[in-house]
Amino acid sequence: MELLEGVDLSRLTSIRIGGRARYLAVPTDVEDLSNVVQMSREKDLPLFILGGGSNTIFGDVEGFVVSLERLRGIRVMEENGSFLVEALAGTPLKEITGLALKENLEGIYRLLGFPATVGGAVAMNAGAFGVEIKDFIMEVTYLDWFGEIRRIAREELEFSYRSSPFPRKGIVVSCLFKLRRSREPVSEDYNRIRRLRRSTQPINVPTSGSTFKNPLPHKAGELLERVGMKGYRLGGVAFSEKHSNFLVNLGEGSVEEVKALIEEAKRRVYEEFGIDLEEEVRLVEDSGSDGWKVL
Ligand SMILES: Cc1cc2nc3c(=O)[nH]c(=O)nc-3n(C[C@H](O)[C@H](O)[C@H](O)COP(=O)(O)OP(=O)(O)OC[C@H]3O[C@@H](n4cnc5c(N)ncnc54)[C@H](O)[C@@H]3O)c2cc1C
Repeated sequence: MELLEGVDLSRLTSIRIGGRARYLAVPTDVEDLSNVVQMSREKDLPLFILGGGSNTIFGDVEGFVVSLERLRGIRVMEENGSFLVEALAGTPLKEITGLALKENLEGIYRLLGFPATVGGAVAMNAGAFGVEIKDFIMEVTYLDWFGEIRRIAREELEFSYRSSPFPRKGIVVSCLFKLRRSREPVSEDYNRIRRLRRSTQPINVPTSGSTFKNPLPHKAGELLERVGMKGYRLGGVAFSEKHSNFLVNLGEGSVEEVKALIEEAKRRVYEEFGIDLEEEVRLVEDSGSDGWKVL
């Protein structure tokens, strides 16, 4: 296992902003992972699980950041016309959406076009174009915070909009999906979604995707636009001109600028509409955030 000290975290997230981690651990198997959890307990330091970093913005982290990038791989079994796909947590989600395109599998291909890992997508219950990852899960294998490996069926897990029991419940190690063959060719819809993403989202600049959850039935992006946040810039960070709910790093963006922009956006939306926007993005700092597990 790789264990580094004083690591610059900006290269580990899609928005490329970040302070330093006291420790960065990159486990290569579950035993390593379990050892890091144990180490953080012994040192009494908090620990943060990192997938693709596409929904995470770091400040300084006085603890362990654990990257699952080396826990990757998929296994595919065919059973009565369905595909059972088991993927390790650090596997890029695009391997699954790519498989779905190749094998003409229903639904899950709609989660194309964002740099998530399987574990991060399960933890966030990632969704797009009418599907959520929970719709395809059969079973999740996870390491609980006491170091035990557990398997749990989808029916026993509570998912909701961009929310799951993980990482509160433990660290997703792998996920088993059941994917069915589609009667219609999926490639046309796949390409339509890809084009739509390219034309409506800033996918070629560093970004962390949606900053706020949609306060249904409203869309966060529309509310932000109506209060003048579209394209609003502070130093090196701005709400994108292309999609007002996406923060983009224009160069040397800092976490302080991110925080100030988030506060400004929340203040304006609350004053104008009386709506409390809730962050979708995980802002991870020393003082703790959603996603911390202090042992
Ligand atoms: C251009 C762009 C477009 C996007 N579009 C969408 C979209 O359409 N729909 C959507 O839902 N999201 C979208 N996102 C946001 C993001 O990609 C998703 O939230 C994704 O699921 C995050 O996955 P990740 O692996 O990058 O997670 P990370 O950012 O690494 O982590 C996110 C959270 O998951 C936890 N986590 C990660 N791995 C594990 C694990 N193995 N076990 C337990 N907890 C874990 C982390 O601790 C953290 O709390 C987009 C992002 C970008 C940059």
